[in-house]
Amino acid sequence: MTLAARAHAHLSEAALHGNLTHLSRRAATPLLLPVKANAYGHGLREIVTLAARHPDVWGFAVATPREAAQVAALDTGRPVLLLTPPTPAEVPVLADLGVRLPVASLAEADALPAHARAHLKVDTGMNRLGARPEDAAQVGLRLAERGLLEGAYTHFATADEPDLRFAHEQLRRFHTVLDALPATPQPLLAHAANGGGILSFGALPGMRLARPGLTSYGFAPSHLRATLPLRPVMTLTAQVTHLHTAHAGETVSYGGLWRAPHDTRVATVGIGYADGYPRGATGRAHVLIAGERRPVLGRICMDQLMVDATGLNVRLGDPVTLWQQEDLTVTDVATWGDTIEYEVLTGLGERVDRVVGSG
Ligand SMILES: *Cc1c(COP(=O)(O)O)cnc(C)c1O
Repeated sequence: MTLAARAHAHLSEAALHGNLTHLSRRAATPLLLPVKANAYGHGLREIVTLAARHPDVWGFAVATPREAAQVAALDTGRPVLLLTPPTPAEVPVLADLGVRLPVASLAEADALPAHARAHLKVDTGMNRLGARPEDAAQVGLRLAERGLLEGAYTHFATADEPDLRFAHEQLRRFHTVLDALPATPQPLLAHAANGGGILSFGALPGMRLARPGLTSYGFAPSHLRATLPLRPVMTLTAQVTHLHTAHAGETVSYGGLWRAPHDTRVATVGIGYADGYPRGATGRAHVLIAGERRPVLGRICMDQLMVDATGLNVRLGDPVTLWQQEDLTVTDVATWGDTIEYEVLTGLGERVDRVVGSG
C-alpha cells in the first residue's frame, strides 16, 4: 500500500507548451528556460521533461551547480547554462557534464578546461553578477581565443516595470560589448530578456535566445498581462483530513483569532505554511471547496488550515483547491500573503506531489 501525499500540484502540459510557444514567438528566438528553484516550485524533473518536448526550448538555465547536475542527469539532449559562478573545484565537474558556464573575468576564462563552453556574463546595471561593460570585451576576447565562447548575456533590473528607460540603457551597454567581441565560428548566442523583457520589448535585435521564467509558468505583471495569453501551469489541491462542528462562540486555530458567530462546519485541510501556503494570508485567504469559494478560518498552521464548510456536501479525502489557473490564482494568494508569485511558487515544499496532466 502506498502512503499518499496530502497535497498535489497538478501541472498542465498544454498551458506550459502554450506559454512557451507564445513567448518564443514574441521574442523571435528559441528559449533558455529558467528551471531554477525546482522549476519555480513546479518540480524540476517534471518541467524539464515536459519542456524538452517543446521545439522552441533550446536549453535550460539554473542557479546552482547541483541544479545543473540534476538537469544534466535527465539527459534531454538540451544544453544547461549555470547562471551563477561555480567554485574553482566545481568548474571541471560541471564542464565534464557539458554544463555551460558563466564567465566574468580573465582569471575565470583562463581556469576553464579546454572542453568547456562559456557564456560571457556582462553586468549592465543589475549590479549582481558579471563583468563590467568596460572589462567584458577583453574577457570575451580571451574566451574566443581559447575557442570556448558560445554565448554572452546580461540581465535586466527593471524590464517588468512600466518605466523602461533603464532597461534601454542596459541594452545599449550590452550592445557596446557585443559589438567589440570577435567573430566566433558559430554565431554568438547573445541573450538578455527575462519574461518581463520579452513582454516589454518583443523581439530584440541581435538576440539569439531569451530566458522567460515566471511568464513560462503563466504569470505576468499586471500592466503587461494583456500582451500575451499566458496561462498558469499549476493547480494546487490538498485533502480534507477532518470534519467537525465548531459551536457558536468557540475559536478556531492558534491565538483564537477567529471566533464562530454561529455553529460552523469546519473542514481541516492537509496543507500549511511548511508546504508553502503563506501564513501571511491568514485572515484574507479563500479556497475552493465543493465548488464554492470559502474563507480560511483563523491562523494558517504549519501543516494544516481550516476552512468554513458550512452547508456544503464535503467528505473526508475530498480535494480542496488552494489555487488554480483562473478565478483563485497564485496572484490572489500572493496578494493575500503580501508577497509575489515568485515567492509563493518557489516556496512550494517537498511534501507536495507534482502530477503531470495533459489538460
Ligand atoms: C531568474 C532569472 C531569469 C528569469 O526571470 P523571470 O523574471 O522569472 O522571467 C532570467 N535570467 C536570469 C539571469 C535569472 O536569474
